[in-house]
Amino acid sequence: MLKHDIIIVGGGLAGLRAALAVSGADVAVISRVHPLRSHSVAAQGGINVALGKTDRWEDHAFDTIKGGDYLADQDAVALLCKDAPERVIEMERWGTLFSRTDEGMIAQRPFGGAGYPRTAYAEDRTGHALLHTMYEQALKNGIRFYEEWLVTRLVVKTPYLNTGTNNGRCSGVVGYNIADGKIEGFLAKAVIFATGGYGRIYKRSTNSIINTGFGCAVAYRSGAALEDMEFVQFHPTTLYGTNILITEGARGEGGFLTNKNGERFMACYSPHLLDLAPRDIVARAIQTEINERRGFDGGYVNLDLTYLGAQKIKERLPGIRQIAMDFANIDPIKEPIPIQLAQHYSMGGIASNKDCETSIAGFFVCGECSCISVHGANRLGGNSLLETIVFGKIAGENAEKYADNTEFEKIDIMEKEVHGESQRISALLGKNEGEAFFEIRDELKEVMDEKVGIFRDEENLKAALDNISELKIRYGNVCVRNKGKIFNQELVNALELEGMLDIAETICLGALARKESRGSHYRLDYPERDDKNWLKHTLVTFAPDGARIDYKPVKITMYKPQPREY
Ligand SMILES: Cc1cc2nc3c(=O)[nH]c(=O)nc-3n(C[C@H](O)[C@H](O)[C@H](O)COP(=O)(O)OP(=O)(O)OC[C@H]3O[C@@H](n4cnc5c(N)ncnc54)[C@H](O)[C@@H]3O)c2cc1C
Repeated sequence: MLKHDIIIVGGGLAGLRAALAVSGADVAVISRVHPLRSHSVAAQGGINVALGKTDRWEDHAFDTIKGGDYLADQDAVALLCKDAPERVIEMERWGTLFSRTDEGMIAQRPFGGAGYPRTAYAEDRTGHALLHTMYEQALKNGIRFYEEWLVTRLVVKTPYLNTGTNNGRCSGVVGYNIADGKIEGFLAKAVIFATGGYGRIYKRSTNSIINTGFGCAVAYRSGAALEDMEFVQFHPTTLYGTNILITEGARGEGGFLTNKNGERFMACYSPHLLDLAPRDIVARAIQTEINERRGFDGGYVNLDLTYLGAQKIKERLPGIRQIAMDFANIDPIKEPIPIQLAQHYSMGGIASNKDCETSIAGFFVCGECSCISVHGANRLGGNSLLETIVFGKIAGENAEKYADNTEFEKIDIMEKEVHGESQRISALLGKNEGEAFFEIRDELKEVMDEKVGIFRDEENLKAALDNISELKIRYGNVCVRNKGKIFNQELVNALELEGMLDIAETICLGALARKESRGSHYRLDYPERDDKNWLKHTLVTFAPDGARIDYKPVKITMYKPQPREY
């Protein structure tokens, strides 16, 4: 059995920032992949921060709240925007090479839904620059890493199961060592999940293959509530066919969208912000153009950067140019890039307050797996990287405070959990007949793409729920053919699939119940926002006999809801 005061699950920006915030306690980071392979490394366009001479954190907060269609908790948004300058400058002092203005200041570009050029960036590889800096700091601070371990269980004494009260206490996690197949208990006084998003339950997604949402699923099965899961962000501009992200920064630098008639159609959908309207609006506009046959055959529109000129593209968007040339054989200096939308970000996640606490004592969350909720119904580009470093720090500090005042739980609870997980995994490996995991997984992805996409309605959401129930039954018959212990990725995938089915179900339940359109959640049968009935957060809690839905109020402390026009 392993033992640390604080266990952090996740080696991306949020997890590493949390680890660096722990000053005295013994801390360890567990990650399914080497930390530098976390999805944070893929972030492109930049990070929002009010650094400009006439910019203010209150303006940043307003843009964020309006961008999120008034569903964000405004106390948390205030914290995010106020702390941004200190956190971003800290990254710069630690070594992140941000792009510069001619005067040598940190350069900032316009981004969607923002009233000011507020997005600091390192070319179009901002996540790469930030994550490497953070990892260097973690190494310098001697943080203990457990790489290529999959956490399969959160250990909770008196789990919070369908009781509506907060009576559980977290005492560690169970991990599966992918390298040798060993199952081990990690006893801890406090646990932080920074396990990232769940984009890969969709077929078309910009996310890394590892973004299956397994952390959220593990927390859900242990009694933590999932919040606002129906809010799934679709990015307007991903490369046609492969769905590799083409950053919003490309439009921030002056690129624009055109349909097959050569029209700049965003003028019809967002007369003021045009191509830099928030993502939900641009994504729906693109899909509407395609649905109304103004897109190109096959279902795409063009993102035109040719007017920017070779120098600007090479200096500011070298990664985008490389992606377009390598994956579509197109040089954006000379030709427009064919784009379509794809799943991109998970606004929902493990329910938490602005102190990163959950309904389970000793269990904290931060980063994309959490729903603190700073993004509300739609995240603005550039706010997610910011969330990881602001709330990563808060999670680390608060977990340490909690750990300082608590003792390790008795070892027998952990032994029981390890035994339970070992039996579960042996049973999965013991089956010699049944269905391959990927058949179920691929069907799930199809269902999510087709029925729980950017435009939703009751009929399709109900059908999706029926499909998912059937897939869950089929999962009971899944057979892992690789019986080996060393790097058994088939087993890892099969374990994660159960969680993916849970996550998909919570999205559909929230989406079916929410009879309005708000931010990324658009119901064709209820096209208007309905503040009277739906200005509230959805909470879904696991129970063996079926998930339960509750609601909680939105914290409105700064800006009252207004019509959302751009
Ligand atoms: C292509 C792309 C571009 C983006 N560009 C931007 C941008 O320009 N600006 C912006 O603000 N945002 C951007 N985002 C969003 C942003 O990058 C992410 O939301 C953010 O980096 C998430 O960080 P994280 O630390 O929460 O999670 P991640 O970086 O995803 O890390 C998750 C970690 O959890 C670990 N993990 C998960 N489950 C388990 C488990 N069960 N056991 C053990 N370990 C586990 C993984 O190994 C990984 O280390 C982009 C996202 C994508 C996909």
